Amino acid sequence: MEYKWPYKNETGTEERISCDVLVLGGGMAGCYAAIAAARRGLSVVLMEKGAAVRSGSAGSGFDHWETACTNPGSRVTPKEIAEAFIDEQGGYSNGIAQYICCREGWDRLLDMESFGGKIRDTEDQFAGADFRDDETKLLYAYDYRNRYTLRVWGTTFKPALRRELSRLGVKVYDYTEATGLLTADVNGRKTNTGAMGMNVRTGKMLIVSAKETVLAMSRPARIWLFDADLPGLCEFRPPQSIGSGHAMGWRAGVEFTMMEKSVSGEFSAAGRSYPPYGAGNNHNTWYAATMVDARGVEIPYVDRDGRILKTVKERYLPAPGQKFFLKGGVIDEAKYEYRGPETMPFDELMKRGYKTPFYADLSRMPEMERKVIWGMMVGEEGKTRVPVLQNYTERGFDPEKHMLQSYGTGWKSASFLAQERQLFGAPGGIFHDWDLKTNIDGLYAAGDQLFASDCAGFAAATGYYAGRKAAAAAEKTGLLSPDETQISIEKERIYAPFFREHGVHWKELNMAIAKAMRNYCGAVKNEELLSEGLSLLSSYEEEIVPELSCDNPHDLARTHEVMDILTVSRIIMEACRMRKSGAKALYFERTDYPETDPPEDAHFITIRQEDGAVIRGDVPFGYYGDLEEEYEKRNQDYIKRGGK
Ligand SMILES: Cc1cc2nc3c(=O)[nH]c(=O)nc-3n(C[C@H](O)[C@H](O)[C@H](O)COP(=O)(O)OP(=O)(O)OC[C@H]3O[C@@H](n4cnc5c(N)ncnc54)[C@H](O)[C@@H]3O)c2cc1C
Repeated sequence: MEYKWPYKNETGTEERISCDVLVLGGGMAGCYAAIAAARRGLSVVLMEKGAAVRSGSAGSGFDHWETACTNPGSRVTPKEIAEAFIDEQGGYSNGIAQYICCREGWDRLLDMESFGGKIRDTEDQFAGADFRDDETKLLYAYDYRNRYTLRVWGTTFKPALRRELSRLGVKVYDYTEATGLLTADVNGRKTNTGAMGMNVRTGKMLIVSAKETVLAMSRPARIWLFDADLPGLCEFRPPQSIGSGHAMGWRAGVEFTMMEKSVSGEFSAAGRSYPPYGAGNNHNTWYAATMVDARGVEIPYVDRDGRILKTVKERYLPAPGQKFFLKGGVIDEAKYEYRGPETMPFDELMKRGYKTPFYADLSRMPEMERKVIWGMMVGEEGKTRVPVLQNYTERGFDPEKHMLQSYGTGWKSASFLAQERQLFGAPGGIFHDWDLKTNIDGLYAAGDQLFASDCAGFAAATGYYAGRKAAAAAEKTGLLSPDETQISIEKERIYAPFFREHGVHWKELNMAIAKAMRNYCGAVKNEELLSEGLSLLSSYEEEIVPELSCDNPHDLARTHEVMDILTVSRIIMEACRMRKSGAKALYFERTDYPETDPPEDAHFITIRQEDGAVIRGDVPFGYYGDLEEEYEKRNQDYIKRGGK
């Protein structure tokens, strides 16, 4: 059947604009960055590959807001929780960004409320529940004593942010993918001068000159796992967020860290798992659901000290003598002192004769806890509203009567082979200073693009922070002219697959990269495998990239994504080569350097590219100093403005 591309063909045409602050990526972090800069009266442009009203991980919703340590019910300080996160990760964490998140997260929620997002139980749906503060109508999650994580109506957030962008006059370019950064040499220092983008419907180029730029394009995906028949189901995060921000950063010389970290597959990868939060489990959204085994026997919860808990209420409280527990932000192997109540480990359950499959049985939970899981958390969380809450309900699922089965070894929604990896939890990303500025002048980063990033509150808080630092810098700088040679090289690069009539499709290249990564950069790593893998990736670069072809601007954008996946895979392999010992917190092992966590290697390794050469840096843990002191030194203006 003949089909006609429904949009104008504008390939080869261009629009040029300029602004004070340019934001790339209109997810949670990007929207808040744009708002912070626009509130200071600056001209702001936001470039978004999808439609900012619903784009990004938070577009379809989320159910909890982590680490709002300054909310009125909180019994912990930002410093306590930020330091716990760092300690919990054995130092491999982003102290600066975690502190910003813990300190400013509540300010961003108040902003959100003023934009029209829903953060309180205004209809008194949960009046009297243990997790509700009846005065403020705030709902808490996980640790009900310390109350620093809030349950929120995340599906209302992105549309509210989009309205605020319009109200503040931010110029939003939807359906425009950023493809490359523009730079100049200023007094011997590399300086950002803006970015280039392409309309993914028409192919028109957008060239933006900016005084300061914020990168907020999330993190890489589809590196180890890709299914050509189910591309939309290949990742937990939205399919258009595949790490192009990392790839363009790499090309420009941006410094990264922790890129050697990857975990064995967690969620949604390559269509193999059941829908996240749609299978019986007791994590995150489903915390602390009652679980039963195949015979209907209840599976016990134990606290940090291994004490079997007798009531559901105790699942939400720290152990006797424990100040607080970390839950919701921590995946697997929590350190003893931060561990919250959990069901017994799978192996222990097997030893004790429990029978699989297991099920989540909400019918055995108190009414409020059942209702807040099924109907609020499942419904507001990520992709649950339609696929899980609506579809299951329409098909007759009733949480008062029915159970949901678990898959994999116990609680996951699937099980993966060790070489089937993902960047999940708090993976590597852009390295930065206390302004969230990269090593390139005029270039900032926020949200999931930062190293060891995590969660919506983190994205909102770091986005706003980066936006206000970029705005402050823009007030003191002038606009530089873009480099015309860079522009023409970039145009040639991005249009090449469009003008090639027959060739390799992006899905084929994605399949090949994923296979190479599983073979040469799986759970088992050593120098021979990694260097072999790197030469295979180089051969793709030299032989397959010049053969890529596509039919329309949409497919062209998909092709760019896979070219970027190739670049990111290279960064990961190079970073893996640099770490010459195992590191537990990075889920990193090498057979040729079997020692784990030797003290001399316990630090960040940074990686960047300059003129094609890969450059390593070594940075000690704690390079950011005392979190509270250093933050307050740099943010008196914000503190005096009362968190605006
Ligand atoms: C299913 C799911 C459930 C989650 N639940 C929770 C939760 O309950 N609580 C919580 O705290 N966190 C949750 N998270 C995590 C949280 O949503 C993210 O950490 C957060 O939204 C990240 O925000 P961000 O702005 O950094 O990235 P994103 O929100 O992903 O935004 C990145 C944006 O960049 C755009 N983009 C990508 N590439 C380009 C390009 N080349 N040019 C232009 N634009 C580009 C994308 O379209 C996207 O809009 C969840 C995530 C998922 C996927």
